[in-house]
Amino acid sequence: MDKKRRDFLKVAGISTLAGLGGTAVVDRLVSGSSPAAANASGAAQEAHGVEPKAHAPATAPTGKRYGMIVDTRKFQHDPSLGEKVEQACITAHNVPQFPEKKDDIKWIWMTDYENCFTEKSLLYKDEATEDHQVPVLCNHCDNPPCVRACPTKATFKNKDGLVIMDFHRCIGCRFCMAACPYGMRSFNWRNPRPFIKEINKHFPTRMRGVVEKCNFCAERIGVGEMPACVEACGNTKAMVFGDLNDPHSEIRKLLKENYTIQRKPSLGTHPSVFYIV
Ligand code: SF4
Ligand code: SF4
Ligand code: SF4
Repeated sequence: MDKKRRDFLKVAGISTLAGLGGTAVVDRLVSGSSPAAANASGAAQEAHGVEPKAHAPATAPTGKRYGMIVDTRKFQHDPSLGEKVEQACITAHNVPQFPEKKDDIKWIWMTDYENCFTEKSLLYKDEATEDHQVPVLCNHCDNPPCVRACPTKATFKNKDGLVIMDFHRCIGCRFCMAACPYGMRSFNWRNPRPFIKEINKHFPTRMRGVVEKCNFCAERIGVGEMPACVEACGNTKAMVFGDLNDPHSEIRKLLKENYTIQRKPSLGTHPSVFYIV
């Protein structure tokens, strides 16, 4: 985080920033050569009918860039899939289930189509879209504002380009929450441990004052397994995971064969989650 951004955050206060749309606003208010400032200029170009330049993916040390395709039609066809993917993630990652909504910790959840795709026109929307619930999770952005906002490097990109967290380094400042334009991070206002139904001893639990989010199942990918939510979809192919940098991967094949959209593409975060709608 550069000095201008730090000074601005101090003056404005984190809660004000969250209300204004987080550091996306900061990046527009402080001039400079940050990637987000460049993206803001890309959005301006778009507004004037000029196509922003194509994004060259950042190169991770392993040369990989993992991504996911969510086929929303499959979730519409089988509404039980939503519950299955949520539960799979909760069980795998010791996600606490607090009784009160204000304390909610969420890694993946179903939401209305219009909450998910806020940049899509919903004027005269069709019936399917009206009732549509789609899963949302961290987009593992290729240009992640949460990583830039984190002062302790508790949030970082790993060797495969996944945006993950070291919970021990998290000081609970919540800058990353203000910076994420998708609201994909949760804060533990209370001690989560008593609210974990069945503890998975192979994954760490968290403590009060720590942020958490979907980690693209980094711990499973590392041992050659698929993410828990993908596995929970069985053979439906409602969620497909793979290396976006591998031209022969299934995910690249699906991207070639289907029209897909990303969430808030104009922000220049370059999400790694694509939706077939
Ligand atoms: S979706 Fe939010 S939390 Fe996830 S990488 Fe992007 S900015 Fe960070
Ligand atoms: S809350 Fe934790 S992860 Fe988020 S910015 Fe602060 S230290 Fe980093
Ligand atoms: S990829 Fe893993 S961590 Fe992310 S939502 Fe799916 S199960 Fe949860």
